Amino acid sequence: MVPELARVQEILRGMWVTFRSMFEKPVTIQYPEVKRPVKSRFRGRHVLHRYDNGLEKCIGCSLCAAACPANAIFVEAAENTDEERYSPGERYAATYEINMLRCIYCGFCEDACPTQAITLEDQYELSFSNRADAIYTKEKLLLPVPENGQPTPQKTPPGKFTRSVPKMEDPKD
Ligand code: SF4
Ligand code: SF4
Repeated sequence: MVPELARVQEILRGMWVTFRSMFEKPVTIQYPEVKRPVKSRFRGRHVLHRYDNGLEKCIGCSLCAAACPANAIFVEAAENTDEERYSPGERYAATYEINMLRCIYCGFCEDACPTQAITLEDQYELSFSNRADAIYTKEKLLLPVPENGQPTPQKTPPGKFTRSVPKMEDPKD
């Protein structure tokens, strides 16, 4: 074949591929305007949960910190009183911090928690411009008070909460 003819043939073939792709469904996702849903087993940024009455599920037991292979969690517990109650357990987390630069999103903290206080959710947009911003504090992690709940600390009747680890569904005792 004459070399010029072969060249023209190749150009036409390339143009045909381009033309054909104009009618194909685009595969590009217009992130951040469009976000792809994550898989049900995806593990993203942590949250700390509350009960429906507003009390915090975390009882400051530090089991999550003990289970964390990256040493990313710091918990400092304090005692609840009936005058000033944060959780239905004996204690609550006065300080709760996760260093997101250390976290490997393994989910061990979630598995270790006896009250399902901490879970890894579907938030994956994490970025920091300095190291201090990567420390997620309790204030950042704790979910807002539910609609019919009360903020913490709450004043509760004496003897209403007597267990160190509250029952999951019923935090009254
Ligand atoms: S997901 Fe894993 S690495 Fe991250 S805080 Fe929990 S236990 Fe630690
Ligand atoms: S999040 Fe769960 S495991 Fe961690 S301190 Fe709170 S109650 Fe304990």
